[in-house]
Parts: sequence; C-alpha cells; structure tokens
Amino acid sequence: MDYLLTESQIQLRDLARRLAREKIKPVAAQHDREGTFPWEIVQEYRQAGLFSVYIPEEFGGTGGGVMELVLVTEELSRICGGISLALAATALGTFPILLSGNNEQRARYLPDLVTGNKLAGFGLTEPNAGSDAGNIRTRAVRKGDKYILNGTKHFITNGSVAKIYTIIASTDPDRGSRGASAFIVEEGFPGFRYGKIEDKLGIRASKTSELIFEDCEVPVENRLGREGEGFMVAMRTLDRSRPGVASQAVGIAQGALDLAAEYAQKREQFGKPISSFQGIQFMLADMASQVEAARALVYAVARMIDAGNEKVATESSMCKLIAADTAMRVTTDAVQIFGGYGYMKDYPIEKFMRDAKITQIYEGTNQILRSVVGRHVLKGM
Ligand SMILES: Cc1cc2nc3c(=O)[nH]c(=O)nc-3n(C[C@H](O)[C@H](O)[C@H](O)COP(=O)(O)OP(=O)(O)OC[C@H]3O[C@@H](n4cnc5c(N)ncnc54)[C@H](O)[C@@H]3O)c2cc1C
Repeated sequence: MDYLLTESQIQLRDLARRLAREKIKPVAAQHDREGTFPWEIVQEYRQAGLFSVYIPEEFGGTGGGVMELVLVTEELSRICGGISLALAATALGTFPILLSGNNEQRARYLPDLVTGNKLAGFGLTEPNAGSDAGNIRTRAVRKGDKYILNGTKHFITNGSVAKIYTIIASTDPDRGSRGASAFIVEEGFPGFRYGKIEDKLGIRASKTSELIFEDCEVPVENRLGREGEGFMVAMRTLDRSRPGVASQAVGIAQGALDLAAEYAQKREQFGKPISSFQGIQFMLADMASQVEAARALVYAVARMIDAGNEKVATESSMCKLIAADTAMRVTTDAVQIFGGYGYMKDYPIEKFMRDAKITQIYEGTNQILRSVVGRHVLKGM
C-alpha cells in the first residue's frame, strides 16, 4: 500500500531495510541460539544514525518523530524482533527525558542517547506489580539533595547493557499511583546493581534483567517532573512507545509472511508447489491482508502522535493490541505453511513465532489494553 511517506521517510525505511538484510540477517540465528547481545549491530545503528530518528533537531536529532521510529523498528524486526529492541527500548527509556525532562536533564543525557553512545531502559515493572503498575513498592525517600531508592525492578529490557534508566518509584506510598515519581538513574550510581538476567522464549538477542536498588543514591536534580508525577510520566511515555511495539509486531509478521511465501513456492507436494493449492493461497492472502491492516493502523496512530495529539491512550492501545494479535496469528500460520519443517530449529520460521509472543505481553498485556479501549468505548455511549 502507498502510505504517502515523505522522501526522507522512504530513504530512512530503505536504509533500515538494507542494514537489516545485510548486517542483522547473517547473525540473527546465532544471537537467538546463544542469547548474546548484538553489540556489533548496535555499532551499525550508531553509524547509520538510527538512534536519532525520533529526536527533535533542537536536541541533536534528525527531527523525526514516532513515525520515523516506527518505520525503522518495523524494518529491523522484519529480520529479527530481538535485535531491533536495542534501539526500540532505548527510545522507551529516552521518551521520559524528552517529554518530561528539564533543560539541564536534556542537555546532560540526550547527547549520548541521540548518538547511541549509551543505551537506555525503562523500569516500571516489579515482581508484584506488573499489570497493576500502580502497586509498585520501590521506595524513594528524599534525604537532603539526594533520594535514596530501595526496591527491585524486573523484566527490564536493555537491563545490564544500558547505561541510563528511567525508574518509577514511590515517594508517597499512601497516595498509590499519585505518589509515584520518576528518576533518571545511571549505571554506576552507588547502591544500584543488576540482578537476574532472564533466559527467554523469544527476543533472545535482547537482554532482560532485574535492576536492584539498595540504598541507591540519586541526586535530586535527576527527578523527572515533580514528586507525584511519576505515573503520568510513565503513561505519557507508554502512549508514545506502544506504536513502537506495534511496529515490532508488524515487522515480525511481515518477516514471517516473506518466508512463508518464499517457502510455499519452493516446497512441492503432489508434484506441484504447495503455493498452487488454494488452501495455502487463502492463508497467504489472509496473512498479507491482516499485516497491511495492522500496519495502516500503526502508521495512523504514529502520525496522530506526531501531529501533537496528547490524548492517544486509546489509539496507541488499539494499534498495539491489533498488531500483536496479528503477529501471533500470522507467525503461527507461517509455521503451518512450513509444515513439519517449520517446527524444526533448522528453519528460521519458528523463531518468528517465539519472538511474536512478547508483543502481546509487554507495555501492557493485550487484556489490559482491551480494558483501556473498552472503558473508552463505554464512556462514549
Ligand atoms: C521480555 C520482557 C521484557 C519486558 N520489558 C520491560 C521493560 O523494559 N520495562 C518494564 O517496566 N517492564 C517490562 N516488562 C514487563 C511487562 O510489561 C509485564 O510483564 C506486563 O506488564 C505484565 O505484567 P506481569 O508479567 O506481572 O503479568 P500479570 O500482571 O501478573 O498478568 C498475568 C495475566 O493476568 C492478566 N491480567 C492481569 N490483570 C488483569 C485484568 N485486570 N484484567 C484482565 N486480565 C488481567 C494479564 O493480562 C496476564 O495475562 C517486560 C516483560 C517481558 C516478559
């Protein structure tokens, strides 16, 4: 479909597409198998300037927005949904600084993030506060010119490879989510260390770890916004980052469709390519139509955000849940088209199905996002 991309968006998409095919494809299976972090690809992202694509020019970026981030994430995920995350999760950790940082915070942190010299992460989830994010237990207590943080964040993407984290902690537990505040925490702050590094089903080239705070000292000037605004910082961030997860899902689905269409033309049964059977053609037609529908919604929401709309919680939830469910369906069908070979690790397709699953879980499970959309529908009635 023609999405009326600008000339510079087409160039950016093609750059990301080329990088993914030439640099990521040869190493994706190995990183997946070994669960290693793709530093050599991060270097490629840096050289191609991909960390800057969603950052305004005034902060050293190329002046693009969520749409540019979505285009790049989709192309990288079309080859590897895990390797794309080094970049996409850095954007997740950077959005709070872009959206809620003051001039000093932006001047201090954005130069290293815009180049990708440092990666970022975003820490909201805790062992007992996942979907119920308002129930976080990590405490931040002010002592003079510092906050003292105690608690554990877990399942944090880019955990242990990032240098800069946005952390949501409670400064006033009696006020629940209204008592949360956001902080920029650097690797190396006293009392901050990494805990368990997760062994995962999919996106295995992405690091996911615990962040442990034991009397961790965070300077007062690293608080983002005012005390009590942490949950708002987190929600504004997720509104803008969910189209990124959705584009990861679209990319994974498109990548699986690419492989299935190619395989169907090569594999012969009953003396003919399986692509000649209507049963397979119908599957491919449904897969392609669903991917296109998801992509159209993701691009529409990205453009809506870039146009300055602030109230996008419903739309960003819609695009993430539609794209994630599409990715799960399409990758499962792609494995089906490969038959028994699709079930084997000798073929690349099973990885797409494993990678797709996470898009239904993080940045709000699809059940939680359906609740967000459902509430909106009922309010309008
Ligand atoms: C690989 C990976 C990377 C991640 N990266 C990050 C990150 O970078 N930063 C970060 O902060 N977090 C991250 N997360 C955490 C992720 O956002 C949470 O796992 C997710 O929000 C779900 O929380 P939970 O795992 O505690 O599940 P739970 O909240 O315990 O949910 C369990 C099940 O119950 C369902 N459920 C819960 N409440 C309701 C309800 N009210 N109605 C209907 N169903 C409900 C859920 O949908 C789910 O199916 C990551 C997770 C993973 C697995």
